[in-house]
Amino acid sequence: MAERLKPLFAALLVLLASACDPPEKTLHESHYIFGTLVEIVIRNPDQTKAREAIVAVVELLRDQHREWHAWKPGGELYRINKAIADGSSIAVSDAMASMIEEAKRLSALSGGLFDPGIGAIVGAWGFHADEPPKGRKPPLDEIRALAARRPSISQITITDGVLSSSNRAVQLDFGAFAKGYGLDAGMAHLKTLGIKHAILNAGGDLNVIGEAYGRPWRVGIRHPVGWGVLGAVEAADGEAVYTSGNYERFLEVEGVRHSHILDPRDGMPVTHIASATVIHESGALADAAATALSVAGPEAWEEVAQAMGVERVLLVTEDGDILQSAGLGSSFALEPAD
Ligand code: AMP
Ligand code: MG
Repeated sequence: MAERLKPLFAALLVLLASACDPPEKTLHESHYIFGTLVEIVIRNPDQTKAREAIVAVVELLRDQHREWHAWKPGGELYRINKAIADGSSIAVSDAMASMIEEAKRLSALSGGLFDPGIGAIVGAWGFHADEPPKGRKPPLDEIRALAARRPSISQITITDGVLSSSNRAVQLDFGAFAKGYGLDAGMAHLKTLGIKHAILNAGGDLNVIGEAYGRPWRVGIRHPVGWGVLGAVEAADGEAVYTSGNYERFLEVEGVRHSHILDPRDGMPVTHIASATVIHESGALADAAATALSVAGPEAWEEVAQAMGVERVLLVTEDGDILQSAGLGSSFALEPAD
């Protein structure tokens, strides 16, 4: 989705989420974090407490964004990537070590289709920029050479707080699961502050707790074409809904759109799947799985979903076909909420 359309879209989602709520009791705020508009919706009787909680969670998410940024200097991930490229080891924080271990675990579950160790390939395509360079031909020889070195997060080890990589082609890029991991932490923080009903929505990727007034939060799922919604799901207390779409960021060269979701096996962009949505109790898992299922494609997605322990999946193929897992049941409705 073009950057300029994101605010419009996020507003649409919130409309869906709160269509019937008395607005005076629900606080809504938007902040630009993670390269997208993050919408925070809190329903709480004490409005002062809700406002304080918003300030706290915004600070937490901003810190995450800085520390986990793959290509902007100033954060821990940037320093780690520099050390790996130099062939050195580096001491890492406990928080970063936990995040990397979780990413490794999810990558292994996905059979390597979600692999945050392919940052160099993502960068070579031009996606390490706020706007991918329109019209610039991708350096395919460089991309193939990088992919042939098979960089993978599985080649990272952390011992006694010191990280090293057995492959210098590895560069960490958390773009495929940072929102999920980060919003999980954000939601956990809101709960410690006593908030019981909330949505954290990063441009259509979201976590919810509690409920709207007497019914589950109802949230929109992004349409892979255009900027409307494909339909709506009811998200129960503690659920997360994550969508990966090849429409979201892409490199357009001579009328061809190259998706920002890459197959780690050859470094090439995903072609068969327009979008993959996963609903799960863990945002980190839902986010990683949505990316992995996009890579798996129409043939292998069921197998990968099972391996990752994901039961509720909605895929839209490049041809516009909708594929749903049996576990999705009636929780998804094609028509937007009224
Ligand atoms: P998402 O929108 O969650 O699918 O994340 C896509 C982002 O993750 C891209 O912009 C890249 O930064 C990165 N990425 C692309 N392909 C993969 C992959 N197969 N595994 C892990 N990260 C990826
Ligand atoms: Mg993802």
